Amino acid sequence: MDSKGYTPTIGLEIHAELKTNTKMFCDSRNDPDEKEPNINICPVCVAHPGTLPVINKEAVKHVLKIGHAVRGKIADFTEFDRKNYFYPDIPKGYQISQYKYPLVSGGSLVSVEITRIHLEEDTARSSHDSGDDSLIDFNRAGLPLMELVTEPVIKSAEQAVQFARELQLLLRYLGAGDANLEKGEMRVEANVSVSKTKRFGTKVEVKNLNSFKAVERAIRYEVERQIKVLERGDQLIQETRGWDENKQQTFSQRLKETSEEYRYFPDPDLPKLKLSDISEFQLEVLENEMPVLPEEKRTLYRSWGVSKDAVEVFVQEPVLLGSFLEEIAEILKHEKKSIKLASNYITSDLLGLYKDKTLPKRLPIDGAEFATLIRMAHSGTISSRGTKDILKIMLENKGGDPEDIAKKHNLIQQSDEGELQALVEDIIKNNVSVVTEYKEGKESALQFLVGQGMKATKGSANPQILQKLLKENIS
Ligand code: ADP
Ligand code: MG
Repeated sequence: MDSKGYTPTIGLEIHAELKTNTKMFCDSRNDPDEKEPNINICPVCVAHPGTLPVINKEAVKHVLKIGHAVRGKIADFTEFDRKNYFYPDIPKGYQISQYKYPLVSGGSLVSVEITRIHLEEDTARSSHDSGDDSLIDFNRAGLPLMELVTEPVIKSAEQAVQFARELQLLLRYLGAGDANLEKGEMRVEANVSVSKTKRFGTKVEVKNLNSFKAVERAIRYEVERQIKVLERGDQLIQETRGWDENKQQTFSQRLKETSEEYRYFPDPDLPKLKLSDISEFQLEVLENEMPVLPEEKRTLYRSWGVSKDAVEVFVQEPVLLGSFLEEIAEILKHEKKSIKLASNYITSDLLGLYKDKTLPKRLPIDGAEFATLIRMAHSGTISSRGTKDILKIMLENKGGDPEDIAKKHNLIQQSDEGELQALVEDIIKNNVSVVTEYKEGKESALQFLVGQGMKATKGSANPQILQKLLKENIS
Protein backbone atom coordinates (compact mmCIF):
# COMPACT_ATOMS: atom_id res chain seq x y z
CA MET A 1 0.00 0.00 0.00
CA ASP A 2 1.05 3.61 -0.50
CA SER A 3 2.39 4.84 2.83
CA LYS A 4 2.14 8.52 1.68
CA GLY A 5 5.42 9.40 3.35
CA TYR A 6 4.43 8.09 6.81
CA THR A 7 6.81 5.93 8.82
CA PRO A 8 5.31 3.36 11.18
CA THR A 9 6.70 3.01 14.70
CA ILE A 10 5.94 -0.03 16.81
CA GLY A 11 6.73 -0.94 20.39
CA LEU A 12 5.75 -4.33 21.82
CA GLU A 13 4.55 -5.36 25.25
CA ILE A 14 4.75 -9.12 25.59
CA HIS A 15 3.47 -11.20 28.48
CA ALA A 16 4.54 -14.79 28.91
CA GLU A 17 3.52 -17.36 31.49
CA LEU A 18 6.55 -18.95 33.09
CA LYS A 19 7.01 -22.65 33.66
CA THR A 20 7.35 -23.37 37.38
CA ASN A 21 6.08 -26.03 39.73
CA THR A 22 3.99 -23.63 41.77
CA LYS A 23 2.41 -20.23 41.31
CA MET A 24 4.12 -16.87 41.73
CA PHE A 25 3.18 -16.18 45.33
CA CYS A 26 1.69 -19.40 46.71
CA ASP A 27 2.15 -23.16 46.50
CA SER A 28 -0.84 -23.92 44.24
CA ARG A 29 0.21 -25.90 41.16
CA ASN A 30 1.16 -24.07 37.99
CA ASP A 31 -0.55 -26.20 35.37
CA PRO A 32 -1.69 -24.20 32.34
CA ASP A 33 -3.22 -27.34 30.81
CA GLU A 34 -5.64 -28.02 33.67
CA LYS A 35 -9.11 -28.25 32.13
CA GLU A 36 -11.19 -28.60 35.30
CA PRO A 37 -11.82 -25.06 36.63
CA ASN A 38 -10.73 -23.96 40.10
CA ILE A 39 -8.61 -26.98 40.90
CA ASN A 40 -5.22 -25.37 41.42
CA ILE A 41 -6.25 -22.78 43.95
CA CYS A 42 -5.66 -21.82 47.57
CA PRO A 43 -6.62 -18.92 49.87
CA VAL A 44 -3.68 -16.84 48.57
CA CYS A 45 -4.50 -16.98 44.85
CA VAL A 46 -8.23 -16.53 45.35
CA ALA A 47 -7.45 -13.44 47.45
CA HIS A 48 -8.78 -14.30 50.86
CA PRO A 49 -8.14 -11.38 53.21
CA GLY A 50 -5.26 -11.88 55.61
CA THR A 51 -3.29 -14.29 53.45
CA LEU A 52 0.34 -13.54 52.68
CA PRO A 53 2.24 -13.95 49.39
CA VAL A 54 5.66 -15.62 49.18
CA ILE A 55 8.00 -14.97 46.23
CA ASN A 56 8.69 -17.95 43.93
CA LYS A 57 12.46 -18.04 43.37
CA GLU A 58 12.14 -20.28 40.33
CA ALA A 59 10.15 -17.59 38.51
CA VAL A 60 12.64 -14.89 39.45
CA LYS A 61 15.42 -17.09 38.15
CA HIS A 62 13.71 -17.56 34.78
CA VAL A 63 13.47 -13.81 34.31
CA LEU A 64 17.09 -13.31 35.35
CA LYS A 65 18.20 -15.89 32.78
CA ILE A 66 16.14 -14.23 30.07
CA GLY A 67 17.71 -10.92 31.08
CA HIS A 68 21.13 -12.50 30.88
CA ALA A 69 20.40 -13.95 27.43
CA VAL A 70 19.37 -10.56 26.04
CA ARG A 71 22.34 -8.89 27.75
CA GLY A 72 20.12 -6.67 29.82
CA LYS A 73 21.12 -5.11 33.12
CA ILE A 74 20.09 -7.31 36.03
CA ALA A 75 18.80 -5.30 38.96
CA ASP A 76 20.63 -5.49 42.23
CA PHE A 77 17.75 -3.97 44.16
CA THR A 78 14.22 -4.97 43.21
CA GLU A 79 10.76 -4.90 44.72
CA PHE A 80 7.16 -5.78 43.90
CA ASP A 81 4.42 -3.19 43.62
CA ARG A 82 0.66 -3.21 43.79
CA LYS A 83 -1.05 -2.14 40.59
CA ASN A 84 -4.51 -1.13 41.75
CA TYR A 85 -7.59 -1.62 39.63
CA PHE A 86 -10.99 -3.22 39.87
CA TYR A 87 -11.97 -6.21 37.78
CA PRO A 88 -13.68 -9.49 38.66
CA ASP A 89 -10.62 -11.49 37.59
CA ILE A 90 -8.44 -9.69 40.14
CA PRO A 91 -10.38 -9.93 43.42
CA LYS A 92 -7.61 -8.49 45.62
CA GLY A 93 -8.29 -5.17 43.89
CA TYR A 94 -4.70 -5.07 42.76
CA GLN A 95 -2.22 -7.12 40.77
CA ILE A 96 1.23 -7.70 42.20
CA SER A 97 3.63 -6.42 39.58
CA GLN A 98 6.84 -4.40 39.38
CA TYR A 99 6.98 -0.72 38.63
CA LYS A 100 10.04 1.29 39.54
CA TYR A 101 12.53 -1.53 39.96
CA PRO A 102 12.07 -4.19 37.27
CA LEU A 103 14.28 -7.27 37.42
CA VAL A 104 15.87 -6.46 34.06
CA SER A 105 16.50 -3.16 32.28
CA GLY A 106 17.80 -2.73 28.74
CA GLY A 107 19.23 -5.42 26.50
CA SER A 108 18.26 -6.37 22.97
CA LEU A 109 17.05 -9.24 20.85
CA VAL A 110 17.33 -9.45 17.04
CA SER A 111 18.54 -5.83 17.12
CA VAL A 112 15.40 -4.55 18.87
CA GLU A 113 16.16 -2.67 22.08
CA ILE A 114 14.37 -3.86 25.17
CA THR A 115 13.19 -1.34 27.76
CA ARG A 116 12.55 -3.69 30.67
CA ILE A 117 11.49 -7.15 31.77
CA HIS A 118 9.55 -7.52 34.98
CA LEU A 119 7.65 -10.17 36.87
CA GLU A 120 4.02 -10.14 37.91
CA GLU A 121 1.10 -12.46 38.59
CA ASP A 122 -1.46 -13.55 36.01
CA THR A 123 -5.13 -12.84 36.56
CA ALA A 124 -8.00 -15.32 36.79
CA ARG A 125 -9.76 -16.23 33.56
CA SER A 126 -13.29 -14.98 33.11
CA SER A 127 -15.75 -16.35 30.59
CA HIS A 128 -19.35 -15.79 29.79
CA ASP A 129 -21.75 -18.69 29.36
CA SER A 130 -24.67 -18.84 26.97
CA GLY A 131 -27.02 -17.36 29.58
CA ASP A 132 -26.50 -14.27 31.72
CA ASP A 133 -23.74 -15.69 33.86
CA SER A 134 -20.09 -14.86 33.96
CA LEU A 135 -17.74 -17.55 35.21
CA ILE A 136 -14.34 -17.20 36.79
CA ASP A 137 -11.63 -19.83 36.78
CA PHE A 138 -8.82 -19.19 39.26
CA ASN A 139 -6.43 -21.86 37.96
CA ARG A 140 -4.61 -19.12 36.08
CA ALA A 141 -4.77 -16.59 38.91
CA GLY A 142 -1.33 -16.02 40.35
CA LEU A 143 0.66 -17.84 37.66
CA PRO A 144 4.07 -16.25 37.20
CA LEU A 145 3.91 -13.88 34.28
CA MET A 146 6.79 -11.96 32.81
CA GLU A 147 6.27 -8.76 30.93
CA LEU A 148 8.78 -7.54 28.40
CA VAL A 149 8.52 -4.05 26.94
CA THR A 150 10.48 -2.94 23.88
CA GLU A 151 11.53 0.54 22.93
CA PRO A 152 9.51 2.13 20.11
CA VAL A 153 12.08 1.14 17.50
CA ILE A 154 10.31 -1.49 15.39
CA LYS A 155 9.57 -0.30 11.87
CA SER A 156 7.36 -2.96 10.33
CA ALA A 157 4.87 -5.72 11.04
CA GLU A 158 7.39 -8.34 9.86
CA GLN A 159 10.05 -7.06 12.24
CA ALA A 160 7.56 -7.15 15.11
CA VAL A 161 6.77 -10.79 14.32
CA GLN A 162 10.45 -11.65 14.01
CA PHE A 163 11.04 -10.24 17.50
CA ALA A 164 8.09 -12.09 19.02
CA ARG A 165 9.14 -15.36 17.38
CA GLU A 166 12.69 -15.01 18.62
CA LEU A 167 11.47 -14.33 22.15
CA GLN A 168 9.28 -17.43 21.98
CA LEU A 169 12.27 -19.48 20.84
CA LEU A 170 14.43 -18.07 23.62
CA LEU A 171 11.83 -18.90 26.28
CA ARG A 172 11.64 -22.45 24.97
CA TYR A 173 15.43 -22.90 24.88
CA LEU A 174 15.66 -21.63 28.45
CA GLY A 175 12.83 -23.91 29.58
CA ALA A 176 11.20 -20.73 30.92
CA GLY A 177 7.90 -21.24 29.13
CA ASP A 178 6.11 -22.93 26.24
CA ALA A 179 4.92 -19.54 25.01
CA ASN A 180 2.18 -20.74 22.66
CA LEU A 181 0.21 -17.72 21.50
CA GLU A 182 -2.80 -19.86 20.64
CA LYS A 183 -3.00 -21.08 24.25
CA GLY A 184 -2.56 -17.62 25.70
CA GLU A 185 0.78 -18.62 27.23
CA MET A 186 2.32 -15.71 25.37
CA ARG A 187 0.34 -12.52 24.69
CA VAL A 188 1.56 -9.83 22.37
CA GLU A 189 0.31 -6.25 22.49
CA ALA A 190 1.44 -3.90 19.77
CA ASN A 191 1.71 -0.14 20.20
CA VAL A 192 1.47 1.44 16.80
CA SER A 193 1.87 4.98 15.55
CA VAL A 194 2.69 6.66 12.26
CA SER A 195 4.43 9.94 11.57
CA LYS A 196 5.81 12.03 8.73
CA THR A 197 8.30 13.80 10.95
CA LYS A 198 10.91 12.85 13.53
CA ARG A 199 8.30 13.30 16.28
CA PHE A 200 6.29 10.22 17.09
CA GLY A 201 2.59 10.21 16.30
CA THR A 202 -0.22 9.30 18.69
CA LYS A 203 0.03 5.64 19.59
CA VAL A 204 -2.69 3.05 19.67
CA GLU A 205 -2.33 -0.18 21.62
CA VAL A 206 -3.68 -3.30 19.89
CA LYS A 207 -4.68 -6.31 21.97
CA ASN A 208 -6.14 -9.85 21.52
CA LEU A 209 -3.46 -11.02 19.13
CA ASN A 210 -3.67 -14.79 19.39
CA SER A 211 -1.23 -15.82 16.68
CA PHE A 212 1.79 -14.47 14.88
CA LYS A 213 -0.38 -14.02 11.83
CA ALA A 214 -2.77 -11.86 13.87
CA VAL A 215 0.17 -9.76 15.13
CA GLU A 216 1.32 -9.15 11.57
CA ARG A 217 -2.09 -8.42 10.10
CA ALA A 218 -3.26 -6.23 12.98
CA ILE A 219 -0.17 -4.03 12.77
CA ARG A 220 -0.55 -3.72 8.99
CA TYR A 221 -4.23 -2.88 9.35
CA GLU A 222 -3.59 -0.35 12.09
CA VAL A 223 -0.85 1.45 10.16
CA GLU A 224 -3.15 1.79 7.15
CA ARG A 225 -6.07 2.93 9.28
CA GLN A 226 -4.00 5.61 11.01
CA ILE A 227 -2.67 6.93 7.71
CA LYS A 228 -6.23 7.16 6.38
CA VAL A 229 -7.45 9.04 9.48
CA LEU A 230 -4.61 11.56 9.22
CA GLU A 231 -4.94 11.94 5.45
CA ARG A 232 -8.57 12.94 5.74
CA GLY A 233 -7.52 15.62 8.22
CA ASP A 234 -8.77 13.95 11.40
CA GLN A 235 -6.81 13.35 14.60
CA LEU A 236 -5.94 10.04 16.17
CA ILE A 237 -6.90 9.34 19.74
CA GLN A 238 -4.69 7.41 22.12
CA GLU A 239 -6.74 4.32 22.79
CA THR A 240 -6.72 0.58 23.20
CA ARG A 241 -8.07 -1.36 20.25
CA GLY A 242 -8.90 -5.03 19.88
CA TRP A 243 -8.26 -7.28 16.88
CA ASP A 244 -11.35 -8.81 15.32
CA GLU A 245 -10.20 -12.07 13.78
CA ASN A 246 -13.37 -12.52 11.71
CA LYS A 247 -13.47 -9.04 10.27
CA GLN A 248 -9.66 -8.76 10.14
CA GLN A 249 -9.98 -5.28 11.62
CA THR A 250 -9.02 -3.45 14.79
CA PHE A 251 -11.85 -1.89 16.80
CA SER A 252 -11.92 0.67 19.60
CA GLN A 253 -12.13 -0.84 23.10
CA ARG A 254 -11.35 1.91 25.56
CA LEU A 255 -9.38 5.07 26.09
CA LYS A 256 -5.97 4.36 27.48
CA GLU A 257 -5.55 4.73 31.23
CA THR A 258 -2.38 6.37 32.45
CA SER A 259 -0.08 4.82 35.01
CA GLU A 260 -1.17 7.34 37.67
CA GLU A 261 -4.61 5.80 37.69
CA TYR A 262 -3.13 2.52 38.93
CA ARG A 263 -1.68 4.24 42.02
CA TYR A 264 1.30 1.89 42.15
CA PHE A 265 3.03 1.48 45.50
CA PRO A 266 5.46 -1.10 46.95
CA ASP A 267 3.63 -4.16 48.26
CA PRO A 268 4.13 -4.08 52.05
CA ASP A 269 3.53 -7.85 52.29
CA LEU A 270 6.65 -8.73 50.28
CA PRO A 271 10.31 -8.27 51.12
CA LYS A 272 12.44 -5.98 49.03
CA LEU A 273 15.22 -7.97 47.42
CA LYS A 274 18.92 -7.38 47.18
CA LEU A 275 19.65 -9.96 44.52
CA SER A 276 23.39 -10.18 45.13
CA ASP A 277 22.67 -11.43 48.64
CA ILE A 278 20.68 -14.42 47.39
CA SER A 279 22.85 -17.38 46.44
CA GLU A 280 20.57 -18.83 43.70
CA PHE A 281 20.62 -15.51 41.85
CA GLN A 282 24.38 -15.12 41.63
CA LEU A 283 25.63 -14.50 38.12
CA GLU A 284 27.96 -17.53 38.20
CA VAL A 285 25.09 -19.78 39.20
CA LEU A 286 22.91 -18.46 36.38
CA GLU A 287 25.72 -18.69 33.83
CA ASN A 288 26.36 -22.31 34.78
CA GLU A 289 22.74 -23.17 34.11
CA MET A 290 22.47 -21.35 30.77
CA PRO A 291 21.90 -23.69 27.83
CA VAL A 292 23.38 -22.99 24.39
CA LEU A 293 21.11 -20.27 23.00
CA PRO A 294 19.53 -20.04 19.52
CA GLU A 295 22.00 -17.43 18.30
CA GLU A 296 24.97 -19.54 19.42
CA LYS A 297 23.48 -22.57 17.66
CA ARG A 298 23.13 -20.56 14.46
CA THR A 299 26.80 -19.57 14.59
CA LEU A 300 27.86 -23.17 15.26
CA TYR A 301 25.80 -24.69 12.44
CA ARG A 302 26.90 -21.98 10.01
CA SER A 303 30.52 -22.80 10.88
CA TRP A 304 29.81 -26.34 9.68
CA GLY A 305 28.81 -24.94 6.29
CA VAL A 306 25.07 -25.57 6.75
CA SER A 307 23.03 -23.17 4.58
CA LYS A 308 21.22 -20.28 6.21
CA ASP A 309 17.74 -21.65 5.55
CA ALA A 310 18.68 -25.11 6.79
CA VAL A 311 20.24 -23.63 9.94
CA GLU A 312 16.87 -22.08 10.76
CA VAL A 313 15.13 -25.45 10.40
CA PHE A 314 17.54 -27.01 12.91
CA VAL A 315 17.40 -24.06 15.33
CA GLN A 316 13.60 -24.06 15.33
CA GLU A 317 13.43 -27.81 16.10
CA PRO A 318 16.29 -28.26 18.55
CA VAL A 319 15.13 -31.46 20.20
CA LEU A 320 14.13 -33.37 17.09
CA LEU A 321 16.52 -32.01 14.44
CA GLY A 322 19.22 -29.85 16.04
CA SER A 323 20.45 -32.59 18.35
CA PHE A 324 20.31 -35.09 15.46
CA LEU A 325 22.53 -32.86 13.33
CA GLU A 326 24.93 -32.43 16.24
CA GLU A 327 25.12 -36.17 16.79
CA ILE A 328 25.90 -36.73 13.11
CA ALA A 329 28.49 -33.94 13.05
CA GLU A 330 30.21 -35.65 15.95
CA ILE A 331 30.34 -38.99 14.10
CA LEU A 332 31.44 -37.40 10.84
CA LYS A 333 34.25 -35.76 12.79
CA HIS A 334 33.05 -32.34 11.79
CA GLU A 335 33.99 -32.94 8.19
CA LYS A 336 32.36 -29.90 6.62
CA LYS A 337 31.29 -31.29 3.25
CA SER A 338 29.65 -34.35 4.76
CA ILE A 339 27.81 -32.31 7.39
CA LYS A 340 26.47 -29.99 4.73
CA LEU A 341 25.40 -33.03 2.72
CA ALA A 342 23.75 -34.50 5.85
CA SER A 343 21.90 -31.23 6.51
CA ASN A 344 20.59 -31.22 2.92
CA TYR A 345 19.33 -34.79 3.17
CA ILE A 346 17.67 -34.03 6.51
CA THR A 347 15.97 -30.76 5.56
CA SER A 348 14.85 -31.68 2.07
CA ASP A 349 14.57 -35.45 1.84
CA LEU A 350 13.97 -36.67 5.38
CA LEU A 351 11.56 -33.84 6.24
CA GLY A 352 10.03 -34.20 2.78
CA LEU A 353 8.95 -37.71 3.75
CA TYR A 354 7.02 -36.18 6.66
CA LYS A 355 5.27 -33.60 4.52
CA ASP A 356 1.58 -33.33 5.47
CA LYS A 357 2.27 -35.50 8.52
CA THR A 358 3.09 -34.31 12.01
CA LEU A 359 6.69 -34.68 13.00
CA PRO A 360 7.40 -37.48 15.47
CA LYS A 361 8.82 -36.77 18.93
CA ARG A 362 11.96 -38.68 17.95
CA LEU A 363 13.32 -39.62 14.55
CA PRO A 364 12.96 -43.37 13.95
CA ILE A 365 16.54 -43.77 12.67
CA ASP A 366 19.66 -43.38 14.69
CA GLY A 367 22.49 -40.97 14.09
CA ALA A 368 25.13 -43.61 13.44
CA GLU A 369 23.10 -45.27 10.67
CA PHE A 370 22.32 -41.94 9.10
CA ALA A 371 25.99 -40.93 9.25
CA THR A 372 26.93 -44.17 7.44
CA LEU A 373 24.40 -43.35 4.74
CA ILE A 374 25.93 -39.89 4.32
CA ARG A 375 29.44 -41.37 4.11
CA MET A 376 28.27 -43.71 1.34
CA ALA A 377 26.63 -40.83 -0.53
CA HIS A 378 29.66 -38.62 -0.10
CA SER A 379 32.10 -41.26 -1.41
CA GLY A 380 29.91 -42.07 -4.40
CA THR A 381 29.22 -45.62 -3.23
CA ILE A 382 25.56 -44.79 -3.78
CA SER A 383 23.98 -42.24 -6.09
CA SER A 384 21.83 -39.39 -4.82
CA ARG A 385 18.78 -41.27 -6.13
CA GLY A 386 19.97 -44.36 -4.27
CA THR A 387 20.54 -42.35 -1.09
CA LYS A 388 16.97 -41.09 -1.17
CA ASP A 389 15.63 -44.59 -1.74
CA ILE A 390 17.65 -46.03 1.13
CA LEU A 391 16.57 -43.21 3.43
CA LYS A 392 12.96 -43.94 2.64
CA ILE A 393 13.43 -47.64 3.41
CA MET A 394 15.25 -46.80 6.65
CA LEU A 395 12.36 -44.61 7.78
CA GLU A 396 9.77 -47.22 6.88
CA ASN A 397 11.68 -49.95 8.71
CA LYS A 398 12.53 -47.64 11.62
CA GLY A 399 16.24 -47.97 10.99
CA GLY A 400 18.50 -50.51 9.36
CA ASP A 401 22.07 -50.73 8.09
CA PRO A 402 22.31 -48.60 4.92
CA GLU A 403 25.00 -50.88 3.48
CA ASP A 404 22.79 -53.95 3.82
CA ILE A 405 19.86 -52.09 2.30
CA ALA A 406 22.02 -50.85 -0.60
CA LYS A 407 23.21 -54.39 -1.35
CA LYS A 408 19.79 -55.94 -1.03
CA HIS A 409 18.24 -53.41 -3.39
CA ASN A 410 21.16 -53.33 -5.79
CA LEU A 411 21.97 -49.71 -5.13
CA ILE A 412 25.75 -49.92 -4.76
CA GLN A 413 27.37 -47.86 -7.48
CA GLN A 414 30.32 -49.34 -9.34
CA SER A 415 32.97 -46.70 -8.75
CA ASP A 416 36.15 -48.77 -9.15
CA GLU A 417 37.96 -47.30 -12.13
CA GLY A 418 39.91 -50.49 -12.76
CA GLU A 419 36.72 -52.53 -12.97
CA LEU A 420 34.98 -50.03 -15.24
CA GLN A 421 37.94 -49.61 -17.63
CA ALA A 422 37.17 -52.67 -19.78
CA LEU A 423 33.54 -51.58 -20.11
CA VAL A 424 34.59 -48.09 -21.21
CA GLU A 425 36.91 -49.54 -23.87
CA ASP A 426 34.03 -51.70 -25.17
CA ILE A 427 31.69 -48.70 -25.37
CA ILE A 428 34.23 -46.72 -27.38
CA LYS A 429 34.86 -49.64 -29.76
CA ASN A 430 31.14 -50.29 -30.36
CA ASN A 431 30.06 -46.67 -30.88
CA VAL A 432 32.61 -45.32 -33.33
CA SER A 433 30.33 -42.78 -34.98
CA VAL A 434 29.12 -41.31 -31.68
CA VAL A 435 32.71 -41.08 -30.46
CA THR A 436 33.57 -39.16 -33.64
CA GLU A 437 30.67 -36.76 -33.05
CA TYR A 438 31.92 -36.12 -29.53
CA LYS A 439 35.42 -35.48 -30.83
CA GLU A 440 33.94 -32.96 -33.26
CA GLY A 441 32.50 -31.05 -30.33
CA LYS A 442 29.01 -32.51 -29.75
CA GLU A 443 28.81 -32.60 -25.93
CA SER A 444 25.55 -34.56 -25.83
CA ALA A 445 27.33 -37.47 -27.52
CA LEU A 446 29.23 -38.03 -24.28
CA GLN A 447 25.98 -38.35 -22.35
CA PHE A 448 24.85 -41.01 -24.81
CA LEU A 449 28.04 -42.98 -24.16
CA VAL A 450 27.58 -42.68 -20.38
CA GLY A 451 24.03 -43.92 -20.91
CA GLN A 452 25.35 -47.00 -22.72
CA GLY A 453 27.53 -47.79 -19.69
CA MET A 454 24.61 -47.33 -17.30
CA LYS A 455 22.52 -49.67 -19.45
CA ALA A 456 25.24 -52.31 -19.60
CA THR A 457 25.60 -52.27 -15.78
CA LYS A 458 21.85 -52.08 -15.14
CA GLY A 459 22.33 -48.66 -13.58
CA SER A 460 24.94 -49.69 -11.09
CA ALA A 461 27.93 -47.82 -12.56
CA ASN A 462 28.84 -44.47 -11.07
CA PRO A 463 28.03 -42.09 -13.94
CA GLN A 464 30.61 -39.54 -12.83
CA ILE A 465 33.38 -42.13 -13.00
CA LEU A 466 32.13 -43.41 -16.37
CA GLN A 467 32.22 -39.91 -17.77
CA LYS A 468 35.70 -39.31 -16.45
CA LEU A 469 37.03 -42.59 -17.91
CA LEU A 470 35.33 -41.96 -21.27
CA LYS A 471 36.94 -38.55 -21.55
CA GLU A 472 40.35 -39.98 -20.67
CA ASN A 473 40.04 -42.84 -23.14
CA ILE A 474 38.81 -40.84 -26.11
CA SER A 475 41.73 -38.99 -27.60
P1 ADP B 1 2.42 4.09 28.34
O1 ADP B 1 2.87 5.05 29.39
O2 ADP B 1 1.27 4.54 27.56
O3 ADP B 1 2.31 2.69 28.85
P2 ADP B 1 5.08 3.66 27.44
O4 ADP B 1 5.98 4.80 27.15
O5 ADP B 1 5.26 2.95 28.74
O6 ADP B 1 3.60 4.11 27.26
O7 ADP B 1 5.25 2.61 26.25
C1 ADP B 1 4.48 1.46 26.18
C2 ADP B 1 4.84 0.79 24.88
O8 ADP B 1 4.49 1.64 23.79
C3 ADP B 1 6.31 0.50 24.68
O9 ADP B 1 6.44 -0.74 24.04
C4 ADP B 1 6.80 1.60 23.78
O10 ADP B 1 7.88 1.18 22.97
C5 ADP B 1 5.58 1.84 22.94
N1 ADP B 1 5.48 3.21 22.43
C6 ADP B 1 5.63 4.37 23.11
N2 ADP B 1 5.42 5.41 22.31
C7 ADP B 1 5.11 4.92 21.10
C8 ADP B 1 4.76 5.50 19.85
N3 ADP B 1 4.65 6.80 19.67
N4 ADP B 1 4.51 4.66 18.81
C9 ADP B 1 4.58 3.33 18.96
N5 ADP B 1 4.89 2.75 20.10
C10 ADP B 1 5.15 3.52 21.17
MG1 MG C 1 3.85 1.90 30.26
